[in-house]
Amino acid sequence: MLRKIAEANFPSRFGHFRIYGFEGQYGDATEECVVLTMGELAGGDPPLLRIHSQCLTGDVFHSLRCDCRSQLELSLNLIAEESRGIVIYEHQEGRGIGLLNKLRAYELQDEGLDTVEANERLGFEADLRSYAMPADILRYLGVKSVRLLSNNPDKIAALERAGIEVAERIPCVVAPHESSQGYLHTKKQKMGHLL
Ligand SMILES: [Zn+2]
Repeated sequence: MLRKIAEANFPSRFGHFRIYGFEGQYGDATEECVVLTMGELAGGDPPLLRIHSQCLTGDVFHSLRCDCRSQLELSLNLIAEESRGIVIYEHQEGRGIGLLNKLRAYELQDEGLDTVEANERLGFEADLRSYAMPADILRYLGVKSVRLLSNNPDKIAALERAGIEVAERIPCVVAPHESSQGYLHTKKQKMGHLL
């Protein structure tokens, strides 16, 4: 089901990684993941793992509607500090609902709905992710147990259901001013600086 399409060297400002492209058939869908790895992964202590769902608005445009980018950068920094770890970057925007539907959800949130309500209004479950593909990728890399970088305890059960042991969960805590709660306040502050 899982196929490695490419593997190459990947120097970045966080450090030197290997980059992989994986493709897999899961249910009706063909899924793609980009994977960054650092260090020897098979055997030894459970490595750090971040499973990151693509967020164009956060990862590329530095959105303050979410803290995806901060969590990704924190993960890359922590992995670089240990010279060992894995980022699985799922090419499925907005927790699987797709980029334009995510923007529609933002529109509904501007009208007062929360994330879950907005997704339900659009006919999506709150979180469409399953960890079948990440688990297959970890098995491909020879990793049976991980230290999961996540703020969401539900992810532990989801990953263990897919056959990967979670030895520890490490919260991805980011600075409060970068959280969505601080969005309007921060925006005003930033505009203040500009003026
Ligand atoms: Zn995001």
